[in-house]
Amino acid sequence: MSAKGAGRIAGRYLVTGGAGFVGSHVVAALLDRGDEVVVLDNLATGHRNAVLPGARLVVGDLEDAALVDELLAEQPWDAVLHFAALSLVGDSMRDPFRYIGVNVGTGVRLIGACVRHGVRRFVLSSTAALFGAGSDAPIAEDAPVDPGSPYGESKAMLERTLHWAGRVHGLRSAALRYFNAAGADPRGRLGEDHAPETHLIPLVIDAALGRRPELTVFGADYPTPDGTCIRDYVHVTDLADAHLRALPLLDSASVRFNLGSGQGHSVRDVIASVERVTGRRVPHRIAARRPGDPPVLVAASGRFAQASGWQPRFGELDAIVRTALAWREAHPQGYRAGP
Ligand code: UDP
Repeated sequence: MSAKGAGRIAGRYLVTGGAGFVGSHVVAALLDRGDEVVVLDNLATGHRNAVLPGARLVVGDLEDAALVDELLAEQPWDAVLHFAALSLVGDSMRDPFRYIGVNVGTGVRLIGACVRHGVRRFVLSSTAALFGAGSDAPIAEDAPVDPGSPYGESKAMLERTLHWAGRVHGLRSAALRYFNAAGADPRGRLGEDHAPETHLIPLVIDAALGRRPELTVFGADYPTPDGTCIRDYVHVTDLADAHLRALPLLDSASVRFNLGSGQGHSVRDVIASVERVTGRRVPHRIAARRPGDPPVLVAASGRFAQASGWQPRFGELDAIVRTALAWREAHPQGYRAGP
């Protein structure tokens, strides 16, 4: 550890999945404040170019127990932040055993290895998909966990594993349940690039830009005011900031928080926002519901705001869309063309 910045002691962090969407933005936030970061990523869905040059990228798999041991032996670690996972609700409905097997298997082994190596703090990238049936009301941390998909179930199982790692071994953990991560680094260094892309905001933007013929709206017969699903879109840079703010809370206890903007937006609202921001029409067609999608998922994030002073900087949907649009316009090929 070395002293850097205004009085803060810089830390050392191991970030699994740090080449992915949320992970890469958290790595950027750690680097921006002067921390040392090692990323472990198998690049199955992450991108080499999404790891900013200040971090050390180790290309490898969490299934490789010897590699994980070797990395964790490189003490000291201020925390391990665990993002690496299969993360598509729809895929998990088609292949539940893979999702549960991989996410729970790798996560449990990583948590166990952290305990063996004396790591004291662990941050789990968790999800609103814990609350499967959803609710019209904003969802608080103590809402019943009832995953609507094997993906959500796999994260619920890891939250429970962390509970026992805390009870039995004293590992402090933060389970951060993201609602819909969206947007892109406002400095233009990072963005969202999945192959294939399945997330709403990049797909709506691509339809507006003429990069795909149209958007398919998965269901317009939900019990919501306009019939389309309502989600709580939270800017990925605000999520990254939330991770930094969660770390010091672990000095006193394990925590779990729901992270969203507290604002619900329907699929049609997202289309309207993209039309406002781009000044173009979004061609779209209504199709059947996508299995596993609850009608409404909106966070009650008040507890985290109160505990940490967190305040989303990009709370407005249009602000989220603007940063996502800027990155997609600048990187039509995503990360393939370079950083
Ligand atoms: N959605 C849609 N068309 C698409 C992709 C997504 O209508 O091509 C809807 C989806 O049904 C959900 C919302 O947009 O209600 C957000 O989906 P996304 O996959 O971005 O995130 P999720 O909520 O599944 O994590």
